[in-house]
Amino acid sequence: TATAEHRSFEADVSRLLHMMVHSVYSDRDVFLRELISNAADACEKLRYEAIGKPELLGDAPKLAITIAADTEAGKLVIADNGIGMSRDEMIEALGTIARSGTRSFMERVAAAEGKEGAQLIGQFGVGFYSAFMVAGEVEVVSRRAGSDEAWAWSSNGKGEFTVAPVALDEAPARGTRVTLHLMDHAKTYAERWTLERIVREQSGHVPVPIALIEKPGAEPATLADGAALWTRPKSEISKAEYVDFYRSVAGQYDEPAAIIHFHAEGRHEYSALAFVPGARPFDLFDAERKGRIKLYVKRVFITDEAELMPRYLRFVRGIVDTADLPLNVSREMIQDSPLLGAIKKGVTNRVLSDLAKLSEQDVATFSLVWENFGAVIKEGLYEDFERRAQLLDLSRFRTTASGEGWRSLKEYVAALKENQTAIYYIAGDDAGRIANSPQLEGFRARGIEVLLLSDPVDSFWVSGMPEFEGKPFKSVTQGAADLGLVPLLDGATSPSAETSQEVQTLLLAMKDALAGQVADVRASDRLTDSAVCLVASDKGPDRQFERLLNAAGR
Ligand code: ADP
Ligand code: MG
Repeated sequence: TATAEHRSFEADVSRLLHMMVHSVYSDRDVFLRELISNAADACEKLRYEAIGKPELLGDAPKLAITIAADTEAGKLVIADNGIGMSRDEMIEALGTIARSGTRSFMERVAAAEGKEGAQLIGQFGVGFYSAFMVAGEVEVVSRRAGSDEAWAWSSNGKGEFTVAPVALDEAPARGTRVTLHLMDHAKTYAERWTLERIVREQSGHVPVPIALIEKPGAEPATLADGAALWTRPKSEISKAEYVDFYRSVAGQYDEPAAIIHFHAEGRHEYSALAFVPGARPFDLFDAERKGRIKLYVKRVFITDEAELMPRYLRFVRGIVDTADLPLNVSREMIQDSPLLGAIKKGVTNRVLSDLAKLSEQDVATFSLVWENFGAVIKEGLYEDFERRAQLLDLSRFRTTASGEGWRSLKEYVAALKENQTAIYYIAGDDAGRIANSPQLEGFRARGIEVLLLSDPVDSFWVSGMPEFEGKPFKSVTQGAADLGLVPLLDGATSPSAETSQEVQTLLLAMKDALAGQVADVRASDRLTDSAVCLVASDKGPDRQFERLLNAAGR
């Protein structure tokens, strides 16, 4: 039209689109899940805004997603009667990359080789732009709820898009209609069987009903009823249904490692359905460290900013639904609601106790969880004093005895050597380097196990940790690592710490030469092969912690 406005995509969008179009990724089905999830989000946003402004719903209070196929024309339409988009919202939402997850996704893909990058597309949802995997041309027509304007966005995914006003009688009465002109290789996405299969597999549990119109003029047929999965009894829900729901709530395509589903009754009533992902979400190490648990009140989505998990469990995805809050709960109320505090506590305890169970009943799966999230969970060791003991029980370590496996502190303590009274650790940022440190020689000669702590967070918790089962934590770099009391293994040798006259003379000479740079030079029984090593003083901070403090400029 005459008033059409041509705009360029933000540079990152162009890159992303290029990747989509040229993607060798074979499972293109995911585009549909992304578009359905946007449609469902839009319906949930309207449901929420309508609590305060019921007039937004007008005479169409039933929210729905409709998929319409036209095999002959090679067209697929996904429509919703949700919140819709204004012109400005459209330009912002469909011309830039708004969500940080997509950004870090692209960084990862850029770093990965072609094949691997393609797998990443399959593992993580990349949103609206995935439509260009199957469509050569995409049109979006939208009318925001309550507005008397409608706008059309269109693009062939090659650097530019167009925005133009449309007549109201050509737009949905409310919400958004996305039309895909399918590419030749993707024509199957306008066929009923394909659509039914994908919706059943991927989107059967979005909280808005989905209907299919299989050809122009046909009656809509229900594909999914939009019932909230979490309200059903556990025994009636299949693993596949849980996985499907997990994927729509988490925006990831992996298999969850753990599913936590329960109804709390009594003083506070709520349902929780939470998942420990099987792969790391992209935003895991974002500085904000935000959780993503969604809060529902009586099945109405309220917010995902309620912080219903402690930071160190921010990788847990899922929902909490309670009937004990008013629907029009405000941000302020959410921030200091004692009810939500109690729910957070209840859900946290449940997640931790389920993880503890998993660690006993399914070691392989728990190891996977620990590999992915151990570094995050350990933040709790210094952030959550109340649950410190519980978190220590859960923690797993690489040690000089673990090989590729993981050791718990319980196992460590059960294998203490004669006269060994402490839990020894060595900390550093390079796992390989610390495992080969000369500091360990004296420990190896005595068969004493040492924890190898190579996560940046380790130095923070270990320096403040008093003990585990009565055994203090001690760094091998701290001077008086009381090795002398523990007998050597058969065949091992170690120089005695008792020093001859010659050694005394040597020590004096070295002290002289290094005056002002070291506090002391001592003969030691900790080395067997190496001649010297640097240690921290007995009382001061451990060496790794010292380095961190220096790096932080303190
Ligand atoms: P995300 O859903 O994670 O925000 P997407 O790329 O899927 O990322 O979508 C980008 C944005 O486009 C959404 O946040 C939303 O603002 C807007 N959007 C997309 N589809 C719709 C829709 N059907 N109705 C309203 N807004 C939409
Ligand atoms: Mg989306």
